Amino acid sequence: MSQVSLHQPSLSFEIFPPNSQVGEEKLLQTLSELKGLTPKFISVTCSNKSHNIEQSTVKLADYVQNQLHIPAVAHLPALYLSKVQVDNILLALQQCGVNHVLALRGDKIAGQATTGEFKYASDLVSYVKDKQQHFTISGACYPEMHPDSNNRIEDVLHLKQKVRAGCDYLVSQLFFDNECFYQFQENCALAGIEVPILAGIMPIINRNQAIRLIQTCQTKVPRKFKAILEKYEHQPQALREAGLAYAIDQIVDLVTQNVDGIHLYTMNQATTAREISRATKSLFAS
Ligand code: FAD
Repeated sequence: MSQVSLHQPSLSFEIFPPNSQVGEEKLLQTLSELKGLTPKFISVTCSNKSHNIEQSTVKLADYVQNQLHIPAVAHLPALYLSKVQVDNILLALQQCGVNHVLALRGDKIAGQATTGEFKYASDLVSYVKDKQQHFTISGACYPEMHPDSNNRIEDVLHLKQKVRAGCDYLVSQLFFDNECFYQFQENCALAGIEVPILAGIMPIINRNQAIRLIQTCQTKVPRKFKAILEKYEHQPQALREAGLAYAIDQIVDLVTQNVDGIHLYTMNQATTAREISRATKSLFAS
């Protein structure tokens, strides 16, 4: 791998390109704080509705890589992109020294026709592998199965195909029940998937965010987590502190069980990342 060593548990962050001037200014402040936490890399999401990925995801990845000097990973959902568009994006990334993509299919948008050139993420993985041999490529995975899949076996077999197409490592969807992740790791091992799997952790700091996520990601809500949401429904500060403690507890358990790395969904919030990092600093490779 060119930029990221995953031999020791790593801590990495995800950010998203803001869609307002205020959001942009706030993100720059967030990024300067995230830099101080020395993440292994920062990944930048990409909307599959974006009409100008070069001005959003690529621009932000460029900033992370060349102004903050932290390895950047550009997310690339390709279901609605043509090969020519993908070529242009890869070239723009290469020109700013970002040689690392998270290759995605992206969610389906009702009523919008696809180009048919990248039906699954694995099509993009092989395409990037072929075009940019020095790129590091990661893929998404789903400990509780992708919602489009009929069953876990099918889901893991498709994942294996994606890894074989050229993924160097995988990053998981968020989850609140570590047992689901351990079961998934076991299923991957049984299927012969041997690349590192980073665990996606989302600290829940407010109730609406939790409810939205649980609905969209269809993730299992353990009894302990549900109790926090109910007990502190009308106490935002208590909910925030309990949500952070829950995420820290998840991370400590995962690292103790030798997870390859933690990928923190920061939601562009430096404070939560800082608090988590402070509480778990000695657990990670520096
Ligand atoms: P795929 O790997 O293609 O899988 C999608 C479905 O197709 C699965 O059910 C799979 O089992 C099935 N499948 C795969 N191959 C085959 C095959 N050969 N035949 C039949 N079925 C098959 N979305 C964004 O728009 N922007 C982002 O920045 C973004 N970042 C993400 C980061 C992470 C870590 C994760 C976990 C998700 C992210 N997503 C993002 C969401 C993601 O794009 C959606 O979950 C999307 O629905 C699936 O994308 P995928 O790359 O996992 O698809």
